[in-house]
Amino acid sequence: MTDLKELHREMTAWRRDLHAHPEFGFEEKRTAAFVAEKLRAFGLEVAEGIGGTGVVGTLTRGSGNRAIALRADMDALRIAEQGTTAYRSQTPGTMHACGHDGHTAMLLGAAKLLAGEGGFDGTVRFIFQPAEEWGRGALAMLDDGLIERFPFEEIFGLHNMPGLPIGHFETRSGPVMSAEDNFEIVLKGLGGHAARPHAGRETLVAACALVLNLQTIVSRRLSPADIGVVSVTELITDGTRNALPGLARILGDCRSFRPEVSAAIEKEMRRIAEGTAQAYNVAAQVTYTREFVSLINDAALVDEALAAARDVLADEAVGVAAEPMTASEDFARFLNEVPGCFVFMGNGNSAPLHNPSYDFNDECLLHGARFHTAVVRRRLAVGD
Ligand SMILES: [Zn+2]
Ligand SMILES: [Zn+2]
Repeated sequence: MTDLKELHREMTAWRRDLHAHPEFGFEEKRTAAFVAEKLRAFGLEVAEGIGGTGVVGTLTRGSGNRAIALRADMDALRIAEQGTTAYRSQTPGTMHACGHDGHTAMLLGAAKLLAGEGGFDGTVRFIFQPAEEWGRGALAMLDDGLIERFPFEEIFGLHNMPGLPIGHFETRSGPVMSAEDNFEIVLKGLGGHAARPHAGRETLVAACALVLNLQTIVSRRLSPADIGVVSVTELITDGTRNALPGLARILGDCRSFRPEVSAAIEKEMRRIAEGTAQAYNVAAQVTYTREFVSLINDAALVDEALAAARDVLADEAVGVAAEPMTASEDFARFLNEVPGCFVFMGNGNSAPLHNPSYDFNDECLLHGARFHTAVVRRRLAVGD
């Protein structure tokens, strides 16, 4: 049997090493090499460079022909760390502010446990994906033939959650995290002297009206039964103190759980932008992009994941999350291909995710690694 205390010490060292050397999406060269070297040392078959910097480790035991995947993310954020720990980021302006250092260390810990102890029948794919934060890494791996080259029938992943107690796991079936769309609306008119507004077609008053009109998409165009968010986040003009702007850019972010809602938001936004622009005698150009798809958990596999969490933790530490979240997660792309389940693991009373003072809590490491292991032993049970 594995010495779990020793494994915890090792995972803590790995996590802190990764934390000190954060890398932005698709630049995870050192991290990927770190992961590949560890997986090889545990005896796994390793493939590197999948979808850029992605790594896939494969471990087979017994004669079963079923395969499941476990996924971790490796990328950091362009945030300047305010932490003062000995292992704080050595890369100015980049830090692990989402705990992907912890996710990577936990999946490595699970690989070591399973390679050493077995206790399952079939094949496990350990997927370490790049670029989760901008929602590009999962697609890059899938486009690189991930499932064709390393087949699996279902997939599991987890994310740490500040505010949820350490040692607690929760998730829900159906929609868990939302789709994310981004938009940019450019208003073009004719700039001019601040003293002579009538002589031009300035864009700032039109932009202000448009920002307010966009608020009616959710309040007046979507069904109250649907969840949607339309957030204008930036308004930028080319004006100056005594010159009216001929150009205004409005940027923002939308969330939804159903593709029909995302489509309705885009359609209404285009209609409102054109109509408002016309009313103010300026021109509008709308660019609308879809960044993340919504994350939908498989009901049967949610039961399995919660049962796996109960295998390693007290019953009362495992729960069903009440509400879907309007944050987004790249893991959803894998769930478009195969059924699976994404769970949240307590990070205790830490700073929020994406905060410059955030730090993954090393007390969680063993919980995550043992959860992964329990999922494998349930889904690839010996003697099935
Ligand atoms: Zn994040
Ligand atoms: Zn994250």
